[in-house]
Amino acid sequence: MESDIERAGRLILASKYVVGLTGAGVSVESGIRPFRGPGGLWTEYGEPPMDGYQRFLANPKEYWEERFIKRSGYRKQLYETFEVAKPNPAHYALAELEELGVLRYLITQNVDNLHRAAGSKKVAEIHGNFSKLRCIQCGSRYGREEISLETIPPHCPRCGGIIKGDGVMFGEPIPSDILRICEEETSKSDCMLLVGTSAFVYPAAGFPQEVKRRGGALIEVDPYETGLTPFCDVSLRGKAGEILPQLVDYIKAKLQPGESST
Ligand SMILES: [Zn+2]
Repeated sequence: MESDIERAGRLILASKYVVGLTGAGVSVESGIRPFRGPGGLWTEYGEPPMDGYQRFLANPKEYWEERFIKRSGYRKQLYETFEVAKPNPAHYALAELEELGVLRYLITQNVDNLHRAAGSKKVAEIHGNFSKLRCIQCGSRYGREEISLETIPPHCPRCGGIIKGDGVMFGEPIPSDILRICEEETSKSDCMLLVGTSAFVYPAAGFPQEVKRRGGALIEVDPYETGLTPFCDVSLRGKAGEILPQLVDYIKAKLQPGESST
């Protein structure tokens, strides 16, 4: 009888345009705590204010001092974790699927940079990337070391706009360049691979719904049932770091039958 991994692999190989969507679950095995739920950072420290972006706009200097100079509370923990976290087998498996030409694009809700660290190139970080800075006026992105902190808040070398962290705050619109990529990729996708995400937070929550609405397939990798489970064609239960490498092995064996060991 066909296993769930085989069914998922077969669906992926039969699809024309596979797009991945990842969430916090993919990084848990890299030691990054989720925000919500048991063990979540916000569960321990409290949720940040829902109007964070408006507070930043009202006082960007204070934002910079709190976020990048003093660093306290959950943010201190979070950034210290980000700085030492390494990709896990799930991140590497997704990078390998891209290299095989099987995964066309990856949309992630994570800001931890681990997909890029694992070698994924076509990545849309819908909530930003903690290691980058972004101008709120022209949208240019910079590495931390590219921007002088002599004056706080720093201003964009290109347009003079105020610079903030690339991570999208509560109340802040998703950067339009990233949102456009996500919508374009979703509109091309006939199969979405959902890893470690309950796709609870919009706009990411709308992407799998859109693929399903157009008759595409949804494959889920998650230890637990999620809100999307009833809509999924295959649900692979377990840790992403264990499941995805098996899925890659299956796909590789089918793509290169001559080199298969089975
Ligand atoms: Zn700018």
